[in-house]
Amino acid sequence: MEHPDEFNVVGLAAGSNVKAIIAQAEQLSPAFICLVDQDAASELKAAYSGPAKILAGNDGLSQLCAMDEADLVLNAIVGSAGLSATLAALENHKTLALANKESLVAAGPLVSAAVKKSCGRLLPVDSEHNALFQCLTGEATDEVSKLILTASGGPFWGKPENELSQVTPAEALNHPRWRMGPRVTIDSATLMNKGFEVIEAHWLFDLAFERIEVIIHPQSIVHSLVEFIDGSVKAHLGPTDMRLPILYSFSWPKRLSSSLAPLDLAQIGRLEFFPADPAKARCLGLAYEAARLGRSYPTVLNGADEVAVDNFLRERIGFNEIGNIIDTVLERHEVVDISSLSDFESVDAWAKSEAEAVISRRGK
Ligand code: MG
Repeated sequence: MEHPDEFNVVGLAAGSNVKAIIAQAEQLSPAFICLVDQDAASELKAAYSGPAKILAGNDGLSQLCAMDEADLVLNAIVGSAGLSATLAALENHKTLALANKESLVAAGPLVSAAVKKSCGRLLPVDSEHNALFQCLTGEATDEVSKLILTASGGPFWGKPENELSQVTPAEALNHPRWRMGPRVTIDSATLMNKGFEVIEAHWLFDLAFERIEVIIHPQSIVHSLVEFIDGSVKAHLGPTDMRLPILYSFSWPKRLSSSLAPLDLAQIGRLEFFPADPAKARCLGLAYEAARLGRSYPTVLNGADEVAVDNFLRERIGFNEIGNIIDTVLERHEVVDISSLSDFESVDAWAKSEAEAVISRRGK
């Protein structure tokens, strides 16, 4: 670990990986470790003999988010399961370094209200939003004309639509630039991830969706850009490595040295940009539509996508069907407001069960 004198890890949480959390506990000596999966937590109790106290389940996560010793919480949970930790950290006035974009996508109004109410602060860890945050530092919001999110395009960018129906989970998981978890990698291949990031940027920076654009940039060196009313454009460039946005959100408002290899632009040689074609990127189009309709539509977008991606990974549906399924679930949805955690939970559960039902009914 770099900068051991700057940081002290007081709690660690994971889903179900007993071995990894033990290895990290031995390295970082936290006071508490937590596995959300109850069976895995029981396994951990049997396998671990170190000094950290073991917590389990979502209650354990909430306890970690409330620890007096913690002033900063990094939430990197995947999916809507991360929302309760986001809300717990904000309610407990922690600075929240947010990598769980689904909190803002699926429950933007709730999280935004919690940020306003809490004395805590939300720092974006998602690389594009961390880049925008850095470009916006020292700037006035009313002098911003638009935000431009870069997308690598994923492994299939430029492939004709008819070839996409046959792609396998293994091909879709082979992202050309970033090593990430399975869901976000598939979401990158469909461009749904970029659609989520448009919604995330809206809630983080309080800008209308029409002023948030997406551009394809296969090299993933420019992490995002901000255009100002005078025509100036600020961009953030850096190595393609998630440790950089994590470090910045941990060190903000300072910067700390890092051991990352410096950017060698002469060696990279070429930075290319292409329009993101919504006709080819169906999921991006669906995300803009759900964003524009607002209220519970983005919640449904996220829940249906979570189920569709999971079914694609289990080879129950084809790659091209992901968008169809989300579209059908959005069409069947009767919109409501998301003004409490229970509103979110019931819409999320509806979207997920409806997506499973749509998948089961296919072809019948
Ligand atoms: Mg991102």
